[in-house]
Amino acid sequence: MIYLDSNATTQVHPRVVDAMMPYLTGVWYNPSSGYAAGREVKAAIANAREQVAALIGASPDEIVFTGCGTESNSMVIKSLAREIGRKSSKVVVSEIEHSAVLRPTEAMAAVGFDVERVDVHEDGRLNLEQLSDAIDDSRPGFSSIMWANNETGVIQPLAEAAEIAKAAGWWVHTDAIQAVGKVPVRVDEIPVDFLSISGHKFHAPKGVGALFIRNGTPFEPMIRGGGQEGGHRSGTENVPYIVGLGEAAAIMLEEMSNGGLDRIAVLRDRLETGLGERLNRVEFNGSREHRTGNVAHVSIPGKVAAEMLPKLDAAGIQCSAGSACMTGKNQPSHVQKAMGFSDEKAFSSLRLSLSIFTTEAEVDEAINIIAETVKD
Ligand code: PLP
Repeated sequence: MIYLDSNATTQVHPRVVDAMMPYLTGVWYNPSSGYAAGREVKAAIANAREQVAALIGASPDEIVFTGCGTESNSMVIKSLAREIGRKSSKVVVSEIEHSAVLRPTEAMAAVGFDVERVDVHEDGRLNLEQLSDAIDDSRPGFSSIMWANNETGVIQPLAEAAEIAKAAGWWVHTDAIQAVGKVPVRVDEIPVDFLSISGHKFHAPKGVGALFIRNGTPFEPMIRGGGQEGGHRSGTENVPYIVGLGEAAAIMLEEMSNGGLDRIAVLRDRLETGLGERLNRVEFNGSREHRTGNVAHVSIPGKVAAEMLPKLDAAGIQCSAGSACMTGKNQPSHVQKAMGFSDEKAFSSLRLSLSIFTTEAEVDEAINIIAETVKD
């Protein structure tokens, strides 16, 4: 099988498994226990916190471990809802956010918050003028704009967006779940107050995430209890998974410095060039310039993704139509609609997403298989 669905999830890296194993077997103690074995486990969590902080240019005490990216997003949105209050406040998100931002902000709107969604241009990038108009410095508020989109890989003008919101005195959150481990993500360069991370998008297991909370930013915990994670997320820590997330962060930092990420972009370009040569009609979607190196978002006019996918699966390629969350739902993805695609174009789109494990031979074979499958 050729796996081209790395934006849905990634294979757990063997080094991550090795790092986790001791904490599933011999070193299984509670990190809050005062004896030496407990302290050893606590030190492993501290080490993972440093590894995750290093990946995004944060300080370790700004990292909170969570159960997943969805939880990180919900924690921030709920806390900020309390912080800004319902009366006279405003919330601004983009039309292309993941459901893990859209659904919680819809829930806010349902109880009376003023929530506005800002459009993107045809290339999938945020309309900054509209954002500027939507942000109102006479009202308390927050914005939540994703760093990179999960369907297209398009990188948002987040520095500009964050600066506009900060200039209005607003809080700024970014869902960086599809950016971390794929492009440099530095909280010391972009003025965000909160940033969400999910482990399974960069070779840690599913079911572990992190939330960056800039020092000095007010935060109201969603889960209260024993005060773990600096009181921001109580509950006995998921030690093996946290250690795994730390190791994955360290691996991605290495990949960034040794050219591993550039290699993925070269393979993605090879895939697009090959498909362009072999298919009579094909369109590549989203900004060419501002995108993660691992996604090819491809429309094949006259074809229907829902029909292509089972054929591709049978022929040895695992990939998605639009986003994994939309698979099986008979409606065009909201991201493609926001980019102005016709229903026909949206339904003919495939998302092919690569990872550090994708090989050149796999890309070449994928080009052949897709070309043959689409011919029928
Ligand atoms: N946000 C984005 C942009 C995503 O791509 C995903 C995963 O698909 C999520 C949030 C949810 O993350 P998790 O699966 O860790 O809950």
